Amino acid sequence: MPKPGAEMALNRNPQSAEARAMERARDLPNTRTATDVDSLRRSFLDHLQFSQGKDEHTATALDRYLALAYGVRDRLMRHWIQTQQAYYLHDAKRVYYLSLEFLMGKALENNLINLGLYDGAREALAGIGVDLSDLFTEEPDAGLGNGGLGRLAACYLDSMATLALPAYGYGIRYEFGIFDQEIRDGWQVERPEEWLRFGNPWEVARPEYEVPVAFYGRTEAYHDEQGRYRVRWVDARHVLGTPYDTPIAGYRNGTVNTLRLWRARASTEFDLADFNRGDYLAAVEEKNLSENISKVLYPNDVTVMGKELRLQQQYFFVACSIHDIVNRHLKMHEGFEGFADKVALQLNDTHPAIAVAELMRVLVDEHGFEWDDAWETCRAVFGYTNHTLLPEALERWAVDLFGRVLPRHLEIILEVNRRFLAGLRDRGVDPAAMARMSLIEEGPVRQVRMANLAVVGSHSVNGVAALHTELLRSDLFKDFDALWPERFNNKTNGVTPRRWMLQANPELARMITEVLGPGWETDLDQLRRLEPLAGDAAFRRRFREVKRQNKELLAAVVQRENGITLDVDSIFDVQVKRIHEYKRQLLDVLHVVAQYLRIKADPSYQPVPRTYLFGGKAAPGYAMAKWHIKLVNAVAEVVNHDLDVRGRIAVVFLKNYRVSLAERIFPAADLSEQISTAGKEASGTGNMKFALNGALTIGTLDGANVEIREEVGAENFFLFGLTVEQVKELRRRGYDPWEYYRQNRELKGVVDAIAGGTFSPGQPRLFQPIVDSLLNGGDPYLCLADFASYVRCQEEVSQAYLDPERWTRMAILNVARMGKFSSDRSIREYAEQIWNVQPVKLE
Ligand SMILES: *Cc1c(COP(=O)(O)O)cnc(C)c1O
Repeated sequence: MPKPGAEMALNRNPQSAEARAMERARDLPNTRTATDVDSLRRSFLDHLQFSQGKDEHTATALDRYLALAYGVRDRLMRHWIQTQQAYYLHDAKRVYYLSLEFLMGKALENNLINLGLYDGAREALAGIGVDLSDLFTEEPDAGLGNGGLGRLAACYLDSMATLALPAYGYGIRYEFGIFDQEIRDGWQVERPEEWLRFGNPWEVARPEYEVPVAFYGRTEAYHDEQGRYRVRWVDARHVLGTPYDTPIAGYRNGTVNTLRLWRARASTEFDLADFNRGDYLAAVEEKNLSENISKVLYPNDVTVMGKELRLQQQYFFVACSIHDIVNRHLKMHEGFEGFADKVALQLNDTHPAIAVAELMRVLVDEHGFEWDDAWETCRAVFGYTNHTLLPEALERWAVDLFGRVLPRHLEIILEVNRRFLAGLRDRGVDPAAMARMSLIEEGPVRQVRMANLAVVGSHSVNGVAALHTELLRSDLFKDFDALWPERFNNKTNGVTPRRWMLQANPELARMITEVLGPGWETDLDQLRRLEPLAGDAAFRRRFREVKRQNKELLAAVVQRENGITLDVDSIFDVQVKRIHEYKRQLLDVLHVVAQYLRIKADPSYQPVPRTYLFGGKAAPGYAMAKWHIKLVNAVAEVVNHDLDVRGRIAVVFLKNYRVSLAERIFPAADLSEQISTAGKEASGTGNMKFALNGALTIGTLDGANVEIREEVGAENFFLFGLTVEQVKELRRRGYDPWEYYRQNRELKGVVDAIAGGTFSPGQPRLFQPIVDSLLNGGDPYLCLADFASYVRCQEEVSQAYLDPERWTRMAILNVARMGKFSSDRSIREYAEQIWNVQPVKLE
């Protein structure tokens, strides 16, 4: 039940004279957010003048971008306020998506599309000689994420708003997002990306809602007035979290949700302590230290390192968010009654898993809950999404470190664990299973296992593709699955068709709308109605024309960035994703080298022309991934300058792979490389963006590839490689990469060429670390074992491409059958099966 009088705060029944007057003034004619072309132009010119302080002579492209962005923002604001009022008035159950990463990319074009302002804005600007597309290039990417996990969070925000769900994203407002990647002499060089340098028109700072966050100190037991045993956290140091809100517009539905990102600020409290001791500079230094918390995104994808600052980041944003969520609830309700009916929290991987302990602390220490009641509340509100099975990605914190930074949370976790293990003992669970399920890993360095905390503290644990969820249940969490089978479920990932089709591939979208009419953008299963058109020669010709145009657009990027002229008739064979050994960019390179050597050995060999495109960032500390980038560039250098292979194969490394570049790449791809070692890729979402844009996939039975193949049909998917079972069996027998090397002459030639300096003239041993990892290092990701199957499958790809009608038919069927992979479907499943939240429709 809403608190009596709670609605007063909304000015529905304004109490104050000011509020009454302001409400009357709301009825003044609205000239500021009208959406006709003249008003859009007026708004652009006004912002150029009044926000940027420029005239037509002095305005730069950046000024013009900002002027339009502010105009769009004005129009978002109205809907934003209305949406938040509606949630409040409905006392709607809210869902909170907690994520350390949001890989948003650019906002202007997406907002224009979702608000239905795209055509109007283009016309408004064209009338004064300004090209809308020129403004898009001025906006920096919001790169607050590493790769798939962060991009998934961004797609989910779009879908939650489009489905009119009362949802909030919570994360960190990093001053530096993912680094800019440069390539020097073939090597990756990282540069800090100052995305906020010119200001960010999409965020609104809300210092009035600042939250204090404690770190360090110690705990102290005491008895309260009722004589109950209580614990308080004392002698802590405090940092302040300032929220910055970004509006998230749904697709043409009037909903505007909030992404709330926290920035760390020093609290003056301990500045003053030093200041009073007369040490002004020490006070300011201290300030710097606490503000480091929101300074930079950790650039590791999948792997984790137990760094104190990372733990501080996790706790910082979780504490701020929980505080905010509890506050929002208490504003409307008497105490915590019904909290679990009004709040759902989703943990995007274990990065925010400390939230389980934090909510316990808030309920027990600050609000006097009994332990069992608090625990029941936690379990009811939390859901946990697992994103990987890789052991190097499982977060663990040394108990010593954890207890120093968060002494009260360590106590809480130990108490949760004590009760949990006691329960297991009572149920007769065997000690070995208990040791595996314990929240604490025993050993020389005792560690807190965040995944176990997340599983124990949630009512739902989900994987991100059917195969991944199966492996979670049978492998990583098998003991938990035996204990609580009902807790596990699958939510196959999805991508938003607004950004990844309407925005990235406007020509294909237009063509689809011509045949299907509007509506498919929010009901992607409608794409099925394209199936019959795969048999229509005229449609196929137009489909090919669109693909060709998209290839030309990407070729222009490559010409500008790499100085290489691409052959748009060649197969655009693309692997773009974070560089990681398990994703096997190396296997792709082995195929390039095999083709190169075939041409060198037989100058009359005429393969179907191919352009191999690679892109992706390596974690700065991941040496082998950096070697792989160097190898791609070294192979490109040799291949692209060898006159013998001219017109047959070319190799390009696209630097600085990011969301905005991805928007150019997916629509231009013919072939999508999804070639991870079976069992290693949890889902993938790049695979979905490619197929949705009419690329065919060459892939292993891994992650969501399995479901993509099921949907598009085995005959429209190039499958190769070992299955999860075969990988297991091979390892059980004892995998020896040397056997494959000795037995396959082509493979031996390829490895020998890399080892012998074909691609490192003057430094024949340069690539020894890669060769060693393949042969003496045991080839942990089975590149050699899958090589023959991969090369054979690539031959099939080439043969299929030789028949353009067949290829186009397959590509159209891929598009038509990708409906399942809309993030709208994923989010609908989360909403119905995990969160139990209903939409609040506005229009
Ligand atoms: C989709 C996407 C990813 C994830 O790609 P995977 O192939 O699923 O690993 C990573 N980075 C960017 C910029 C993306 O758009």
